[in-house]
Parts: sequence; C-alpha cells; structure tokens
Amino acid sequence: MPEYQQPPKSNKISPNSPIHSHFIEFPVPASVLVIVAHADDMDFYCSGLLAKWIKQGTEVNLVVVTSGDKGSNVFGTDPQRLVLTREQEQLASAKIVGIQEVVFLHYPDGELVFANKRNLQSDIVRQIRRFKPEILVTHDPMTRLKRVHSDHRTVGEVVRDAAFPISEICNCYPEQINLEGLETWQAHRLMYFDTDLPNYFVDIQEVLQTKIKAISQHCSQEYIFTGGSASCITNRASKIGAKYGLEAAEEYLVINLVESH
Ligand SMILES: [Zn+2]
Repeated sequence: MPEYQQPPKSNKISPNSPIHSHFIEFPVPASVLVIVAHADDMDFYCSGLLAKWIKQGTEVNLVVVTSGDKGSNVFGTDPQRLVLTREQEQLASAKIVGIQEVVFLHYPDGELVFANKRNLQSDIVRQIRRFKPEILVTHDPMTRLKRVHSDHRTVGEVVRDAAFPISEICNCYPEQINLEGLETWQAHRLMYFDTDLPNYFVDIQEVLQTKIKAISQHCSQEYIFTGGSASCITNRASKIGAKYGLEAAEEYLVINLVESH
C-alpha cells in the first residue's frame, strides 16, 4: 500500500493550497473511536466517512464529552431536560449511522477550558484503552484559519495527548490497569476533522442522505442552521467536494502515531 496518493486531476485545486502536496492513503480500519465535544458534532463533521467505513465492516464507537446543556437559544431552558433530549437525539442518529456504542462523559457544556484536565485526560484514556481503536477521530485543536468553539479545541488537545503517548504508558493512570482490568493501547492513527490542513478526503455522495438523516435527528439544534440542516450539510459537502472534483466530500488531517503505519 503506497503511503501517499496523487491529488485528483482537477483544475479546481489551487497549486498554492497546502492540500496539493500530500494525500495520505491507508486501508479501511477494523475499529474507530470518535471523540467529540457535543452531541451532533459527529453527525455534522464526520458521519459520511463513518457511514462508508461501517458499510465496509468497520466497528465504530462514539464518546461525547459534554452534556450539551447550553445548546439552546431560548433563555431559561431547563438544562437537565435539554441534556436528556440531546442524548436521545444522539442515540437516534448514531443508530442511523451504524455506530455500535455511545458513551456520554457529562462534562458541563461550554466550560471544558475550566475542567480538571487530568480527570478529562483520564476519562478519555479509559475509553481508548477500553475500545482499543485502530483510528481515533476528533476535532483539530490546531486550526488557525477557522473559528473554533473552545470545547472543540479542548477535546482535540486532550485526545491528542491521550492518543500518544499516554494511553500506551502503563504507569499513566495505573489504576485503570490494576483495578479496572484495562490494558495499554496505542492507536495507529489520529484523524482531525474541521481542519485547515487536510491531507485526506473522502467522497461521501453515496452516504450523503444518511448524513442528512443523522443530523436531522438533532431537532433541538435545528435553530443553528440557517436554511435548515439538510441544505447546510449539502452545501458544506459540496463546497469541500469542489476542491477535489467531487459532488460531496469530507476532508481530514491524518497523523500516523505508529512508525510502520
Ligand atoms: Zn460542537
């Protein structure tokens, strides 16, 4: 398997674009763990890629770090009721995409920059050691050219450190090994979505309707999408796809965590 592929022959790719020089290629993974800040992040950013891989036999599990308790534009919304609603919405959409298990870590929404980072890292390392994923998918914590929610940036940073090298070191959170029966784990790759330095793209035309159906389960979040979630998803996929000569696409920054991979 070659390490890199040539970008598609398309005059829509700018020769000055950072994506022009390197496109990574790797086999369909056996297992993936997606770690996101909020219910609906998985659906919005990476459900196309996940749906494609799941159709090819990949096991995908999802961790949602916050409770999503601030996700309303109505002042005075009952946060506990909102949490229950958002978790039900996430479970419904995960079923549509084909995700096996969803774990909610219940950190306060919008406040991850103030969270105890050691506790957060421990909670994320625990899920990595538990699911033993080949690939970790999460928010890009380093993007500079896009506006970024601080919860997204925080999750991306914590997952990056947990993925390498913490989850692989037996003396980091040894109680998970001694008391919980977990084993150390080194994922092969880290994939960032919402990145401004992509080196991987995927054609999602065949699963676009699945992605739209998944995001439409998040009825409580529909207020975010001007013109509706279906058209926002379609427009985003089309805009990314145009860079690669495709009708609809998602793009990622892939980082190898193991030398031979
Ligand atoms: Zn989010």
